[in-house]
Amino acid sequence: MTLIRIVVRGVVQAVGFRPFVYRTAKKMGIKGYVRNFGDCVEIVAECSGEKLKMFVDALKNNSPPLSKIESIKVEEIDSDKYYDDFYILKSEESTNFEESIIPPDISICDECLKEIFDPKNRRFLYPFTVCTDCGARFSIIEDMPYDRSKTSMKEFKMCERCSEEYRDPLNRRYHAEPIACADCGPKYELYRGLTKICVENPLEECARLIDEGYIVAIMGVGGTHLACDARNFSAIEELRKRIKRRYKPFAIMVRDLNAAKKTAYLSRKEIEILKSFSRPILVSKSRGTVAENVAPGLDSVGIMLPYSGTHYILFKYLKTYAIVLTSMNAAGEPMIIDREEVLKSSFQDYSLVHNRRIVNRVDDSVVKVVAKNPVFIRRSRGYVPLPIELREDFYEKNKAILALGAQENTTACILKGRKAYLTQHIGNLSNIKTLRFLEDSVDRLAKMLRVKEFSAVVVDMHPLYASREIARKYSDTMLEVQHHFAHAYSLIAEKRIEEAIVIAADSVGYGYDSKIWGGEILVCSPKEHINERFAHLEYQPLAGGEKAVEFPERFVAGVLKKAYGEVPEDVLRNFDKDIIEKQLNSNLNVIETSSCGRVLDAVAYLLDVCEKRTYEGEPAIKLEAFARRGKACINIPVELEDRTIRTTEMLRWIYENRDKYKKADIAMSAERAIALALAKVALRAAEEYGIRNVGISGGVAYNNEIVAFIKSYVERRGCRFYINSSVPCGDGGISLGQAAFAVYNLF
Ligand code: ZN
Ligand code: ZN
Ligand code: FE
Repeated sequence: MTLIRIVVRGVVQAVGFRPFVYRTAKKMGIKGYVRNFGDCVEIVAECSGEKLKMFVDALKNNSPPLSKIESIKVEEIDSDKYYDDFYILKSEESTNFEESIIPPDISICDECLKEIFDPKNRRFLYPFTVCTDCGARFSIIEDMPYDRSKTSMKEFKMCERCSEEYRDPLNRRYHAEPIACADCGPKYELYRGLTKICVENPLEECARLIDEGYIVAIMGVGGTHLACDARNFSAIEELRKRIKRRYKPFAIMVRDLNAAKKTAYLSRKEIEILKSFSRPILVSKSRGTVAENVAPGLDSVGIMLPYSGTHYILFKYLKTYAIVLTSMNAAGEPMIIDREEVLKSSFQDYSLVHNRRIVNRVDDSVVKVVAKNPVFIRRSRGYVPLPIELREDFYEKNKAILALGAQENTTACILKGRKAYLTQHIGNLSNIKTLRFLEDSVDRLAKMLRVKEFSAVVVDMHPLYASREIARKYSDTMLEVQHHFAHAYSLIAEKRIEEAIVIAADSVGYGYDSKIWGGEILVCSPKEHINERFAHLEYQPLAGGEKAVEFPERFVAGVLKKAYGEVPEDVLRNFDKDIIEKQLNSNLNVIETSSCGRVLDAVAYLLDVCEKRTYEGEPAIKLEAFARRGKACINIPVELEDRTIRTTEMLRWIYENRDKYKKADIAMSAERAIALALAKVALRAAEEYGIRNVGISGGVAYNNEIVAFIKSYVERRGCRFYINSSVPCGDGGISLGQAAFAVYNLF
C-alpha cells in the first residue's frame, strides 16, 4: 500500500515537535509514526488527499513556538507495513545527535501562564512552571543529547504526578525535561545577608520590598539580577553608588505591553521583538516616564517584558509597573550565578534565591532597531547557542575552527561544518574571571558539539588581547585576523553573500600597519582573493595611547594642534595644555588612529555633550541622542583626498563655529557629514570593483542617523545595503567574522 513520508527540516528537535506531530495525528485519526531523523523529523503517515493537505497545513501553521520549519518534503512510499495507531518512535539508530539543536532559553508560554494564575491548578503560583514549549534550556544543560539527566534538573526527583505527565504523549509536558511542580521542583527563598527570612511567600515579600525602595538580588534563569523600582530615583541612585556605575543605562522590566507603551515609543516591529520568545531587552525611544537616572542623558530606554514565571508572579504583587533589572556583577566581572556568592554580596539589601544550579550563564540579550533593521547589541539569552549557517560553497566539512573574538563585549565562535555556533555574551577579557568564563564557555560548547580538536584557532591581531593566553590550548595552528576585516566578514558570513564593500567603523582595532584603525572602507571578495583596505578616515594622533579614549579632549587636542600648530587655550578641561603638547611633540605614547568612534567622541566633547567616557561608546551614544534634537542643515566640510577621509577640517570647523549655530544642528550636521563621506567612498569602491553589495558593521552601525543615511544613499544608487542582524555589529560579532575570514581565505 502507499504511505506518505514527510520530512520536516529546520529547528525541529528538542522543541516539542514530535509530541506536537503526535497530538495532531491522533486528533485527525492518522496512523503511522514520527521520529527524529538526522537533524530532521520524519513522519510516516497513512493518509491522502484532503486529509493529507490538512495534516501538512496543521504542521505548518500550528507548530510549537520554539520550532522553525524551513521545509516540508512530502513523498509517497511503497510499504507493506501496517500501523494500528500513531507512534513516537525512538530516534533512528544512526541519528547523529551531533547535528541536533541545542535549544536556547525561552520565555514562559501562554498555556503555562494560565496555569500559574489558575487557583485550581496544581501549579498555581509556581515560578518554575514549564512545558515542552517553554522555559529554561541552554542555561541548565550540561551536555547533549538534551535530556533531564544531563541538566541541573537531575538534582530534583520528579514526583508521581509530574512523572505521569512526562510519560504521557498526549500531555503538553510529555518529555518536558525541566518539568517540575511545587512538590518536587526548585524553590525560592528570601535572605537578608546570610540570614534566611521565613515568609510564606518569598516572591510576594520580594515585591513588597522593591515597592518600598529596597534593592533586591533576584536569581533567575541564566543569572542573577539586581532589582529596584524603576520609578524611584533615590533607590536607583543608591544602586549606582553600590555597583560603581555612574551613568551606564540600566535595563528595566515592565509589567506588560501596556506598561511598555507607557515607557517607550514603540513601532510595530519593536513590539514584535519585545513579545518574541527570546524576550530581549529592546532599546527604544523613551517617553521619559521612568526615573531619569535609569538612562542618564539619553533619549532611549532599554525595556523587556517578563520572561519567566518568577517575573510574572512578582508583577502580580508589585505596585510599580517597571523595575530596574540589571546583571549582578562586580565591575568588569561576569554575572554572578552561584547562590552562595549571591548571598555574600553586599550590593543588595535582600536576596531572592533558588536552589537550581545555573549551568550556563546567559545575560539578557539586547536589541535595537537601526534604520528599520533589528540589530543585536548583545546576543545571549534566548538566542544562544542557535547556529548561524554559512554559505555552502565555503566550508571544509571535517574541519572545526575556533575563533576567540576581540577583547571587550566579546564572544567566541565554533565553526563546525557550515554551522557557526557563537557563545553567549562573555564580557571584557581584561578581567581574569571573564577570561575563565570564556574558556569554560568554549569548553562546554565544544563538548556539546562533540568537537574534540580544532584545526585552527583564530585570534585578533592585537598583540595584547587576552584571548591569546588561552589560544594555544586549543590548536597549534594559530591564525590572526585583522579586527575590521573580521567585522566585514561577520556581515558577509551571516548574509551568505559572496562579496561586499563594508564600512567597518568602530572605536578601536589593531591594524596591519600597527596603527589603531576604526574608520575603514574595505573591499572583500574572497572568491577573487581580494581583501583590500580601500580607504579610511584620516590618521589622527592620540596622546596617551588607547587608555586616552576615556577623555575625548586628548584626541581633540591632537587634531587641533595639527590644524593650528598648537593646542588652543580653551580646549582642555582636565589636562594641562603644555603637558599634552609636549607629549604630542615627543611622539611618546602617542598612537595614530583612523577611528570613527574617536571623531564622534570629539564632536560630542566640542559640543559639551560628553566630557568623559564612563562606559563603552558613551560620548557617541549621547551625541546621537543630542543630534536628534537638531537638523542636518549646516554644510560641515569633510574632504575626500585620494583614499583618505579628512577629519581635521571638520573638527576645526566645529571648534570655530560651535557658538554660531544651534549645537544640536551642528551635531546632526556632523553626523550627516561623516555618513555622507563614508557612503561616497564606499560607492566609489563599489564602482571600481564592480561590487553591488554595500554594508556597515562595527559599533558605529548602532547609530541610527548615520546608518539610515548611508542606507538610503547607497540604495538610491542601485546597491544593496546590509547591516548585521544575526550577530552583533559590535565586537560581539567579531568571532563569527574571524572564523569566516579564516575558512574563506586561509584554507
Ligand atoms: Zn509552557
Ligand atoms: Zn512534581
Ligand atoms: Fe570593533
